[in-house]
Amino acid sequence: LKDKDKTRNIMERTDKKGYEEAQKRLKMAEEDHKKILPELRKESRRNYLSKREAEKLEDLEAEIADEEYLFSTDALTERERKELEYKRNLRDLAKDYKKAGAKEKEERKNRYYMPEEKRSKMPMEGGGEQGRWEEERLKTASLSFGAKKEREKGLKAEREKYQLILEEDEIINFVSSAQEQAALSQAEVQKQSIQEVRRSLPVFPYREDLLLAIQQHQILVIEGETGSGKTTQIPQFLMESGYNDGGMKIGCTQPRRVAAMSVAARVAQEVGVKLGNEVGYSIRFEDCTSERTVLKYMTDGIGLCLKVVVVIIDEAHERTLHTDILFGLIKDIARFRPDLKVLVASATLDTERFSCFFDDAPVFRIPGRRFPVDIFYTKAPEADYLEACVVSVLQIHVTQPPGDCLVFLTGQEEIETCCELLQERCRRLGSKISELLVLPIYANLPSDMQAKIFSPTPPGSRKVVVATNIAETSLTIDGIIYVIDPGFCKQKSYNARTGMESLIVTPCSRASANQRAGRAGRVAAGKCFRLYTAWAFKHEMEESTVPEIQRTNLGNVVLLLKSLGINDLIHFDFMDPPPHETLVLALEQLMAELPVDPMLSKMILASEQYKCSEEVLTIAAMLSVNNSIFYRPKDKVVHADNARQNFVVPGGDHMVLLNVYTQWLESGYSTQWCYENFIQFRSMKRARDVREQLEGLMDRIEVEVCSSGGDIVPIRKAVTAGYFYHTARLSKGGYKTVKHQQTVYVHPNSSLFEEQPRWLIYHELVFTTKEFMRQVIEIDSSWLLEVAPHYYKNKE
Ligand code: ADP
Ligand code: MG
Repeated sequence: LKDKDKTRNIMERTDKKGYEEAQKRLKMAEEDHKKILPELRKESRRNYLSKREAEKLEDLEAEIADEEYLFSTDALTERERKELEYKRNLRDLAKDYKKAGAKEKEERKNRYYMPEEKRSKMPMEGGGEQGRWEEERLKTASLSFGAKKEREKGLKAEREKYQLILEEDEIINFVSSAQEQAALSQAEVQKQSIQEVRRSLPVFPYREDLLLAIQQHQILVIEGETGSGKTTQIPQFLMESGYNDGGMKIGCTQPRRVAAMSVAARVAQEVGVKLGNEVGYSIRFEDCTSERTVLKYMTDGIGLCLKVVVVIIDEAHERTLHTDILFGLIKDIARFRPDLKVLVASATLDTERFSCFFDDAPVFRIPGRRFPVDIFYTKAPEADYLEACVVSVLQIHVTQPPGDCLVFLTGQEEIETCCELLQERCRRLGSKISELLVLPIYANLPSDMQAKIFSPTPPGSRKVVVATNIAETSLTIDGIIYVIDPGFCKQKSYNARTGMESLIVTPCSRASANQRAGRAGRVAAGKCFRLYTAWAFKHEMEESTVPEIQRTNLGNVVLLLKSLGINDLIHFDFMDPPPHETLVLALEQLMAELPVDPMLSKMILASEQYKCSEEVLTIAAMLSVNNSIFYRPKDKVVHADNARQNFVVPGGDHMVLLNVYTQWLESGYSTQWCYENFIQFRSMKRARDVREQLEGLMDRIEVEVCSSGGDIVPIRKAVTAGYFYHTARLSKGGYKTVKHQQTVYVHPNSSLFEEQPRWLIYHELVFTTKEFMRQVIEIDSSWLLEVAPHYYKNKE
């Protein structure tokens, strides 16, 4: 193509018309010359090239190269020579700016690299207990370096005690005497008042520098080790220095519900206010804020209000879908709201990328306070990592000095099983071992149980926290010395071709594994037991986790952006643009009126026509708290299953959900009723909230709420109207989706598991061990034609 261009160029030069054309262009160029150069010089105060200018420079270079290649200088007219000369000048100038700019950029970025020494000079008021304690601990630690031989002997003996674990492969600055110190420190730390704890956090000495940096820059990236105080302290600094004057608000976005709730509670406690007053949180379907709220932790930053003065995009390194969308939006908003401050807070991972994305915003680095962590690997891969976890915990408990233990598993079910196994084995061992407190933490855990993980471990016992990824960077649990990492996590993944979104247990990334290990080194030197081989770590794990936007169904994203008035999605400023194919598919689905969440809306709207909105609203609400309604404690499985069976009514799972809600309503929304029927009260309460919100919405769009009076056909028709895209049909080989002819299975939990009706509508597909349809309803195939003739006309 380029050659063709060149030929054309030459031809142009020879043909007369082309020549005139060229003359005209040259004249223009000369005028440009007069204008542009001074302008460029003027702009050069900025001293770096904008993206557009950089592109221009590239064009220019190509042009010059072309011309130099094509024509010898003699062949050029004077004017042409002048033009070329001009271009060369321009290029050299631009290059200079580029160089200077790069240097300046680098300086800008690294402006806030905080020297380590500052910390030792840190002002210690109130007796400086923390400081003294640290100093002492460091002394003992360095002493132990002298006793290297001894240590190695001890280490060897210790290693031999393990049966399962652990061929150690790599030692990072091992300091052996730290554990006893840690036990001591726990007690000490407890004694400190809240203010003293605040002062002891790594971010504290940088309070003034940080506030100054925030004042000076609109966008600032803040990098700091987990537990350094980013989430809990920085908003307080801002509050203390008057950012809230005039009722302005600070918003801090969190990728996880649990983190938003827990952190808000902690900060409210530190500030000394009731949660929900000045400090509050807002997560999907639950708003714990009031008129007075000035600091709000939230999972959905997109609903940010105008009165926000500072937005903190926290846990930016997680790169969740919401965070990524927020990046693009905030970058845009920040341009026309110069008063808005944007802080991007991240663990020590890849902060350069954030800086780059936000036009080279400076990075403020809070030096970490991480103690060395010894890493152990298994000799051979573990077949059953759950069992391996249990054994490892017990081994640690029996053989290792005091210090709490953190185990990373992938989800609620695994965590519950692990906790039960541990408790059972402890019971069996009885008084042969000291007390082991086993505490789970995952998103659906009731909040009082969640709070337990933060309470101090009683002397003489050991705490084991069995957690999902949530404990990787979102929540800091003090006192952890041992980490057990099986190396897995649950990840959403999306297949653009089949349109199926699934949660899959996959190996975590190396970056994740290192974050996990780091949790062991927060209060003292720690140990991390990886239940995989060093080889697997090096060769089988990905370097870092793929951002969610790269592996998700974009239907909702597209809708969300469209609802915000952003129509040009292909050019939306994504930090990592989603795969083109996925984006196009999402748009396509939208055009077919069939993306995921809108299905629910469609179902609700259809309920007006079928005169059953009363029931459908309930079903919609129950579906939205999905999968956390039935409670199945392992020691009462039979009771729980019987209770569940009692709720079964004809029609399918949606009808069962409706039945559960109706009975609960009749019980007067009773907690006791939930307890007796193995229903999770918290989920029901949320369903009730959601239902109220939806009902309010119906009111607003003037849809009359009425009941079908016990007739279940209209209800199922309304569901079909919303979800006709999710149809499965029973054929010889089992169920197949109508859309993709993909083999799917009824989930064993379903009320229709044994009935196998010919036609089904499913609420969602989930891939665990198989492709399961969760929440299914039986339908008549003729309804499909009735509710979606545009879609089914040609198919049946
Ligand atoms: P970062 O955001 O930098 O990871 P945080 O601000 O979340 O750090 O945590 C700072 C400290 O606050 C932690 O080390 C921990 O001691 C304390 N903390 C945070 N949340 C809680 C909580 N819910 N209960 C008790 N202490 C907490
Ligand atoms: Mg945090």
